[in-house]
Amino acid sequence: MNITQQHDLPLGHLQACQVCGCSDLQLVIDLGHHAPCDSLLRENQLHEIERTYPLRCMRCPECGLVQIDYVVAPEELFYQDYPYRSGITSTLARNLQSIAQVMIESEHVKLPKGSFVVDLGSNDGTLLQGFKSAGMRVLGVEPTKIAAIANANGIPSLKTFFGTTVGRQIREQYGQAQVVTAANMFAHVAKLSDLIRGVAELLCDGGIFLTESHYLLDLLKTVQYDSIYHEHLKYYSLKPFVRMLDAYGFSVIDAERIPNYGGSIRVFAKKAKGLLPSLRMKELLAEEEYEDLYGPRPFEEFRNRVAKSKTDLQNLLVDLRRNGKTVVGVGCPGRCATLLNYCRVDRDLMPYIAEQPSCLKVGMFLPGAHIPVVDEKIMFESNPDYAVILSWHYWEPIVRNLRAKGITSKFIVPLPEVHVLED
Ligand SMILES: [Zn+2]
Repeated sequence: MNITQQHDLPLGHLQACQVCGCSDLQLVIDLGHHAPCDSLLRENQLHEIERTYPLRCMRCPECGLVQIDYVVAPEELFYQDYPYRSGITSTLARNLQSIAQVMIESEHVKLPKGSFVVDLGSNDGTLLQGFKSAGMRVLGVEPTKIAAIANANGIPSLKTFFGTTVGRQIREQYGQAQVVTAANMFAHVAKLSDLIRGVAELLCDGGIFLTESHYLLDLLKTVQYDSIYHEHLKYYSLKPFVRMLDAYGFSVIDAERIPNYGGSIRVFAKKAKGLLPSLRMKELLAEEEYEDLYGPRPFEEFRNRVAKSKTDLQNLLVDLRRNGKTVVGVGCPGRCATLLNYCRVDRDLMPYIAEQPSCLKVGMFLPGAHIPVVDEKIMFESNPDYAVILSWHYWEPIVRNLRAKGITSKFIVPLPEVHVLED
């Protein structure tokens, strides 16, 4: 099998590992059938058949890559009205904008003013705002209508999927880039070979490809099975990542753990061959070995903890309902679709999910469970007995914010272990 066939996945059931081609993939967890998590439904769609796909997470015993074994068409996942906006979660927005400073100060990069920076999966342009403020030339690439929001906010953005052809076109029209970033999108890509070749076309020699992806070690340690959904094809650890990029003439020179999305990994790859990794990257590789990340043990533990957290959440919500308490959801991240559908939480147990009025999901319904997403003012008016924090990885600022707005409900944090917060 050549490298393109191996790294560019066909749609449907995955037959072999995307990094190394091994066909003996081992089951980590089977979450059942789910609709794509950000495919929220309008009211009239509740009368139609809903399309669901298998959601199983697999581990490659050969290279260590963890991946789901069903590829949904990207046009279906990242459809034109895709409702996710990175700029409305303030913690995340700050983290994304700080990438510019990291790149300017990094000993590996030392990015001078006027450099050309391209962000892939640029969403509403939040990440590039940081680079623009620091005096860089910027361009976003975003396949959904959200590109228009970025353009309106002064971040020039092309509305398209990124690949080899688009990479070449950008270079011809705008010149070579010193930096290409891909925050929380690299793990979403089925046609990886096409994408990495595009990055190589676009970057100057010695240019930096910076990615941020959800980190496998955090996923396992904090039981984040809710971050398993069809948009996330892969759950990276460092070793398979290095192997992947090496095949395209990149050296991974540095990596660090960052808090985004409940634990992510920021990886610096240079378009140059044979460079050595930094000290902290070597330490992280050693930690992966120490945690036995390439053996079966942490995955068995993970599976057991998922099963326990599922029944604990179900028991708590059923008990509260029996006792006549009102329970609602707060925040509607993509991951809550996996959590609520896997735990069979429906409108009886959670009559609605409250969201900020600026969220594009308000007025729509969660796929599967059909729980309505409503303007949070409904929650402020009714002050329910309990509220489940569905963006639980950001629970602290969320609780502070809701308390400041006068909510006196008790808060439930569903993961890593289900617990009710003490006041
Ligand atoms: Zn593999």
